[in-house]
Amino acid sequence: MKSDYIGTIGLEVHVQLRTRTKMFCGCAVEFGGEPNIHICPVCLGLPGALPVMNLEALKMTALTGLILNCQIAPICNFDRKNYFYPDMPKNYQISQYDLPLCLAGEVPLHNLAYPKDAQRNIRNPGKRVHLVRIHLEEDVAKSFHFESSTGIDFNRAGTPLMEIVSEPEIESPEEAFAYLTSLRQALVYAGVSDADMEKGQLRCDCNVSVRRSSEKKFGTKIELKNLNSISGVRRALAFEIDRQIEVIEQGGTLQQETRRWDDDLGQTVLMRIKESAHDYRYFPDPDLLPVQTEIFMDEVRGRVPELPWEKRERFMKQYGISEYDAGVLADDTALAAYFESAAAGARRPKTIANYVLNDLLSALGTTGESIADCKIPTKYFRQLADFVEEGKISGKQAKEVFSAMFLSGKDPASIIEEKGLRQESDLDALEQLCRQVIEANAKSVEDFKAGKGAAINFLKGQVMKLSKGKANPNLINGILTKLLG
Ligand code: ADP
Ligand code: ZN
Ligand code: MG
Repeated sequence: MKSDYIGTIGLEVHVQLRTRTKMFCGCAVEFGGEPNIHICPVCLGLPGALPVMNLEALKMTALTGLILNCQIAPICNFDRKNYFYPDMPKNYQISQYDLPLCLAGEVPLHNLAYPKDAQRNIRNPGKRVHLVRIHLEEDVAKSFHFESSTGIDFNRAGTPLMEIVSEPEIESPEEAFAYLTSLRQALVYAGVSDADMEKGQLRCDCNVSVRRSSEKKFGTKIELKNLNSISGVRRALAFEIDRQIEVIEQGGTLQQETRRWDDDLGQTVLMRIKESAHDYRYFPDPDLLPVQTEIFMDEVRGRVPELPWEKRERFMKQYGISEYDAGVLADDTALAAYFESAAAGARRPKTIANYVLNDLLSALGTTGESIADCKIPTKYFRQLADFVEEGKISGKQAKEVFSAMFLSGKDPASIIEEKGLRQESDLDALEQLCRQVIEANAKSVEDFKAGKGAAINFLKGQVMKLSKGKANPNLINGILTKLLG
């Protein structure tokens, strides 16, 4: 971005809630099956059908509000948003207008949530992006355009959709990336959604404007649609900010419009110009009564889980691991649970974190498995790490044991036994080896005594060789120095 311009971004995120049934009827929430099998008069929008509220969807939205520090409204209401909707035959959407369930709140941006290449250069570390509101509404059906006809699938119609609206406080495409990554993680932790953007479980509209840094007033807002990955959001915003600056630099003016992101072209493309604000003629849905939230908030408060940022803090304190390692572990709740089970009662949990984060993750990467597929009992990691800490095997040998353990699922002690890997830590035996090496390498001994300190490394190498790699390298130095002194 040119330095004399400021970018402003506000995101509207729609999240599919993981409820069992739809928002206002008992049809199952299930995607990907045969079209039009989860339908009834309510979600088809047949005249006279009456909606019945899904309490679980309200609870999940309130839970999201609690973990994002929102104010939970004492009373919320549902309104009709009237419009011509090609994929919603009743021609209004039930949504929340002036009494949304959650107000304000914030999303904390964690350093590791930024794109990898941007993590070194974070302009606002520890930033929290404030929210305007979170409300609940129903999703629409899905149209499929064929060559000469259009089909419509109502399985998605009427499924609960939560909308999270941010303040226009995001300053860069990288911050937008961090916002979505952090938000997504909080939603997954809370268990309210799988929040997979590629599956449409999390959908994001980006509002973006630019202005000269000398100007106070926000520039003209342009909306970007059709984003289906978090990295796509970053690319789209980067392109769009440059495009807007270019228009202004050329002396042009921007108009309020909706554009879509074409990832193949790497460009935003005009969809429609916003001529005037729509008048949706909102009014309270007469079929649904206002909700007093207090009736379910006690239960919701009891559901608040340990949050990603809390888990990271605790891991650093409790296990003495780095912020980075804690971040990678906490990123995946299954991985975090696996690590904690392995680390329980270990001599040095940090060693276990290293094996899990380096050896295990890369081994799973090569077989294309996830941590859920991992068949190694967590106690084997504890045993392996403890063997290293006790000096029974070297770090290098531990890698060999790990590989065998990953392939065979056998316990480390048996593998060490079978492979004869035990590290030699017996001082008498090691001294014996050192004496042999000293006798056989008079030249190096002379060099060492003449002040060439590096000669000891050669001797050390010879001891390792003589022991077939089994000598404990941490002990050899001391013994050699003593014998040569
Ligand atoms: P609308 O009435 O067009 O829906 P809102 O005021 O409700 O506009 O804002 C919608 C989203 O756009 C919010 O996420 C908000 O943060 C963001 N937004 C508002 N104004 C701007 C702006 N000038 N530039 C970028 N984003 C903006
Ligand atoms: Zn239904
Ligand atoms: Mg709006």
